[in-house]
Amino acid sequence: MASKPPMLWSLLRCKCPNCRKGNLFTQRSVFPLRSMLQMHTHCTECGAKLVEESNNGPGINFVLTTLLLFLNILWYYPIFGLSYTDNSVYYFLASSVSVVLLLQPWLMRLARSVYLYLIWMTRE
Ligand SMILES: [Zn+2]
Repeated sequence: MASKPPMLWSLLRCKCPNCRKGNLFTQRSVFPLRSMLQMHTHCTECGAKLVEESNNGPGINFVLTTLLLFLNILWYYPIFGLSYTDNSVYYFLASSVSVVLLLQPWLMRLARSVYLYLIWMTRE
């Protein structure tokens, strides 16, 4: 148990929630996008079941997307500034949405990873 890599680190790198060594996805990278969500049904390292009956993270993906949308304010505000007196709020929203869309492939994978870790934690 002590030799396991840290949980958050494994979660972000989409590793098996049980041993934290095997990969969740068959592809290391999100490219090609067509097969980026293909997952191993069982962990290649420990054999833990990785595919659940409702194994998708649209709900969590939505949460992450919304979260990221607002987190964008952290870099946008110091650089460009926000004000209610001009259109900067709209520029912020537009740039925020483009960032979220660009990061979507990684968000979708991360959402599945988060979902599996949540299931795993409720089991223990
Ligand atoms: Zn494993």
